[in-house]
Amino acid sequence: MSAPEPAKPARVVTSSMIGMNMPDMARWSERVVVVLGQNPGPFTGPGTNTYIVGTGKRRLLLDSGQGIEGYDDLLVRALAELCDGAELDRIVLTHAHPDHIGGVERVRARHGDLPLGKMPLPASDRGFEVRAIADGDIVETEGATLEAIWTPGHARDHLCFVLREEKVLFTGDMVLGAGTTVIPPDGDLGDYLDSLARLQALDIERIFPAHGPIIEDPHRKIAEYLAHRALRDEQILAGLAAGVTRTENLVLRIYTDIPEFLHRAAGVSVESHLRRFHKLGRVHRDGDHWRLT
Ligand SMILES: [Zn+2]
Repeated sequence: MSAPEPAKPARVVTSSMIGMNMPDMARWSERVVVVLGQNPGPFTGPGTNTYIVGTGKRRLLLDSGQGIEGYDDLLVRALAELCDGAELDRIVLTHAHPDHIGGVERVRARHGDLPLGKMPLPASDRGFEVRAIADGDIVETEGATLEAIWTPGHARDHLCFVLREEKVLFTGDMVLGAGTTVIPPDGDLGDYLDSLARLQALDIERIFPAHGPIIEDPHRKIAEYLAHRALRDEQILAGLAAGVTRTENLVLRIYTDIPEFLHRAAGVSVESHLRRFHKLGRVHRDGDHWRLT
């Protein structure tokens, strides 16, 4: 894959996942079948993508959805109709956010007490016994070799996986099929940017995200994500320089084109930038007010 041209901020992430439709199940490659988690919403788009990976009689499930009734039936159908009647032999998670770990119990109820692999984060792992996956670990199933890439930022336990045979990168919530990801209050934007830079250096040809459709030009998309964050940095610094000190007023200044119900999410995003600036010593905080140092 040739090196991407840097994205121009003007064309950054104008699309949104709201209202996007995807089929409930589909084969995306020789080794990968996608099954939708049946949890559509403003922050999950068409819902969480869960992936059946492998070519053999026993395959791996990457992410388990949110635990929505009906998903488990769909998963059984996908195994029968799109996977030659294969069975699951384990569950692997990109991270422990509820729309990824929430389906574990329902899946186990149908498929037996499958082992659960992820980067351990006891506070988020819901008491499940976890088989630890660390950065660089290889997770193998028949026909497929997954390399774990630790990508903290959106969540501390976040792993991406490279499917080596197909140069596919499963990005979890690091990179989405449309729109941008939110760095929650317990996330870290600085770590997230470092993780994006790490993904940008990988030899990959396609991204299979945890939300939304296939991304065919991964390096361009990651460059867009980096440019988008740089643009937000500039906008926030400009707002602070103009004397805007409160998060909600920065949101009103910067996000002029999103519906009001997304303002809270936008506020979470703005604060992730402010917290990074704070760490870098570029702003200080006084109650609800942020000011340049
Ligand atoms: Zn998440």
